[in-house]
Amino acid sequence: MQRYDWSALDEGERERILRRPAQETRQSTADAVAEILATVRRDGDAALRVYAERFDGRVPEAFAVGIEEFDAAQRDLAPALRAAIDEAAERIAAFHRAGMTPAYALDTADGVRCERILRPIQRVGLYVPAGSAPLPSTALMLGVPAQLAGCREVILCTPPRRDGSADPAVLYAARRCGIERVFKLGGAQAIAAMAFGSASIGKCDKLFGPGNAYVTEAKRQVALIEGGAAIDMPAGPSEVLVIADRGARADFVAADLLSQAEHGADSQVILLSDDSALLDAVDRELERQLADLSRAPTARSALQSSRSIRVDSIDQALQVSNRYAPEHLILALRDARAALPAVDAAGSVFLGDWAPEALGDYCSGTNHVLPTSGAARYAGGLNVASFQIAITVQEVTPQGLQAIGPCAVELASAEGLDAHRQAVQIRQRALASHASSQ
Ligand code: NAD
Repeated sequence: MQRYDWSALDEGERERILRRPAQETRQSTADAVAEILATVRRDGDAALRVYAERFDGRVPEAFAVGIEEFDAAQRDLAPALRAAIDEAAERIAAFHRAGMTPAYALDTADGVRCERILRPIQRVGLYVPAGSAPLPSTALMLGVPAQLAGCREVILCTPPRRDGSADPAVLYAARRCGIERVFKLGGAQAIAAMAFGSASIGKCDKLFGPGNAYVTEAKRQVALIEGGAAIDMPAGPSEVLVIADRGARADFVAADLLSQAEHGADSQVILLSDDSALLDAVDRELERQLADLSRAPTARSALQSSRSIRVDSIDQALQVSNRYAPEHLILALRDARAALPAVDAAGSVFLGDWAPEALGDYCSGTNHVLPTSGAARYAGGLNVASFQIAITVQEVTPQGLQAIGPCAVELASAEGLDAHRQAVQIRQRALASHASSQ
């Protein structure tokens, strides 16, 4: 990791070192993705086959996973893995159920009842990455809240394996969430298929899920195209920012940094500490632990664009963190809870030495689909409300109209919207004539 001293940097250098690696190649990715989206929209399944061959190495016999493949996945999956998926699903469901937005109603004046009711989004498309590693945990993170929301049509796309099959653990996790429509399709072309529809894949109203730079860019573009689909958030190449104080354990910190770095070469990890000796110790630990990692080459290339930054104080570290707005924030501090009020922008926060990000990635119960690229400044992670539409309702009695009608008439007059004013006044007159005739 490259080492910096925050206080010695000028504004331009600070800006530069907090840039995400994926931002460097943004334009070329955007151009490639735009072409994929336009081609899939025009040529449908034929284009999907071309891109499957080009980017995933083969065209599956059928994109849709059949019932036999689902059954085989369920049958052949190791019992310990099945149990872990079941256990994680239960904890994720418990946390997400507890956080569901309630419907509510309030009388805002006598005879004026306002309500908010909730409806599931009808047709949703989920993307489960599998380019460098299949992520059954992501199938749970998307499928569990979709099921709690009650979405009726749920489609899931995931890249095929080299032999043309879908990852069995992803299939098991999908079925556990009631999802039977799984397609072996990856990358920007999968996003295009779900956004525009094709002969094999139904068009969706909203798309969810993380992915690499191509997937994330494709989601960004379909959200802007007329006739495309809404999206949950930019959930691209993963990031972690760790703030560690003098008492932190270098081996724990290094392990957390590597767990992020192994995601992909475009992942980014940032370490901030007010203790130079700790930064040195973490560097040594990284080398030691890398020696035993199966994905060491990936982690090493991610570490090349990662930063180790010495700060003057933990307060300064928290300011840098808010500026970066990390997807994951680990506070490896002696009193991590005390630092929480100073956190203004982060996807998910891990307090203390015993909450590695890996627990949140899999099974603590929180969602691991989180905003990246600084989107944590304005968006939170996935939850049940992401799969719902909030509809407001108002019910007004004659007494209610009399109570708040004059307010509407005044505002409509000020805005020069005569028909608005008239819609209220016509009723006020009807009530007045009804009263005088009695
Ligand atoms: P992926 O499924 O996102 O991408 C694989 C697909 O990318 C392939 O199927 C292929 O179609 C396409 N592709 C590959 N090279 C291409 C090229 N040159 N041009 C066009 N398309 C190409 O899987 P992945 O690559 O392993 O990436 C998963 C990503 O998801 C990682 O970056 C990880 O950090 C991120 N992630 C993010 C979150 C989050 O919440 N933000 C959570 C989990 C994972």
